[in-house]
Amino acid sequence: MCSVELSYLLPHLAGVLVLSVDGSGPVVVVRARTRSFTPASCTGCGRPSGWCHSRYVRRLTDASLGGRPVLIELSVRRLYCENAACAKLTFVEQVPGLTVRYQRRTPLLQHMVEAVGVLLAGRGGARMLKVLHVGLSRCTVLSQLMRIPLPPLQTPRVLGVDAFVLYRDTYGTLLVDATTRLPLTLWEGRDAEQLARSLIGGRQSAAKAFDTVR
Ligand SMILES: [Zn+2]
Repeated sequence: MCSVELSYLLPHLAGVLVLSVDGSGPVVVVRARTRSFTPASCTGCGRPSGWCHSRYVRRLTDASLGGRPVLIELSVRRLYCENAACAKLTFVEQVPGLTVRYQRRTPLLQHMVEAVGVLLAGRGGARMLKVLHVGLSRCTVLSQLMRIPLPPLQTPRVLGVDAFVLYRDTYGTLLVDATTRLPLTLWEGRDAEQLARSLIGGRQSAAKAFDTVR
């Protein structure tokens, strides 16, 4: 006989009270609730409040467990903000690591969806997620991919320029950071003057930034 704490298998549920786990159907349903007398920070002003307005159940999709999808039915509180100067009268508490505002997936699953989207894009990503028991359309995978913030753009030390044919006499130009091999920008046409203007503009921006630092 082996008894394992649920929070060991699902550490993101450690901050809530798990009421039941129903594994009798094709989906594992975990019912849980947040603790009643723990203050939560207002999403508007950040001031903690424990003054409960009401409760409602959020349905969160989580990463699959034992080859079956997991649904978390989490009872959360809507609280009054006790700061009279705050624009929010009420707010809904968030559980770090488990809930994100307006998000119906846990951060664990959301990270998986984004990683699959980066690696396989829409159609391939949706197929891979289906294998992982996550039912999302290719459009949803793409929309999640487009929501990921881009890393800050670094000035490339070595610039690669590639002109290519889109169709017939329509051309495109791709600029690539030759060090990281990541694309920088793409524009229609293969005009040398356009490239020269871009490079001069980049040099002027760099010179301005250098003057600011000095
Ligand atoms: Zn507030």
